[in-house]
Amino acid sequence: MRLVLIGAPGAGKGVYAQYFRDKYCIPQISTGDIFREEISKGTELGLRVKSYVERGELVPDEIVIEVVKKRLQQPDVQRGFILDGFPRTRPQAEALDKITSIDRAIHLKVSEEVAVKRLSGRRVCPVCGRVYNIYYEPKPKVNEKCDYDGAKLIQRQDDNPDVVRNRYRVFYDTIKPVIEYYYKSRRLIEVNADKSLKEVLPVLEKTLINTGVLKLTPCRDVKIE
Ligand SMILES: [Zn+2]
Repeated sequence: MRLVLIGAPGAGKGVYAQYFRDKYCIPQISTGDIFREEISKGTELGLRVKSYVERGELVPDEIVIEVVKKRLQQPDVQRGFILDGFPRTRPQAEALDKITSIDRAIHLKVSEEVAVKRLSGRRVCPVCGRVYNIYYEPKPKVNEKCDYDGAKLIQRQDDNPDVVRNRYRVFYDTIKPVIEYYYKSRRLIEVNADKSLKEVLPVLEKTLINTGVLKLTPCRDVKIE
């Protein structure tokens, strides 16, 4: 099962990827994670990537493609994989089709309203690092205070409603051609990610099984929370 996962900030992309990764034992491949690792290791690639990141620029397509190509040669992708955060552009999507065959792209469609609510409701404990949400579970038991140490919870700068709104709009401006690309090649699955994971995930999983994309036997029992 070779999937591309597309989702704006607040769509819950990480949780979906984690579910399939854990249940079917296939790797979740995030170019962001690979870049962070290479930068921290100080590799040649890491240094090249770092120069773009530091200037606040996008890493050029040819570097990203090279990285994905190398990653897809690892033996752990044999049962399949989930690509997270790639492709970001149409040239990247086209290049990916030359490297491997992608079965489906799943667009976790989230409205701006819900994305903003999910992310701007996030609170972090400055003491222990636990993450809460004032609108969704896990909610703090006492308003704005950590359940464990009672510290006053804070909102990350990134989760400020205006910042979230802007990230959401920039994301959709960029990703539109990629969504169109998979739609035109009849590989796009759109799900309503405004709904809860419990409602969406069983339907998505059934669709993947019924269309013959998901043929793997689960390697673990994973519960949806
Ligand atoms: Zn705490």
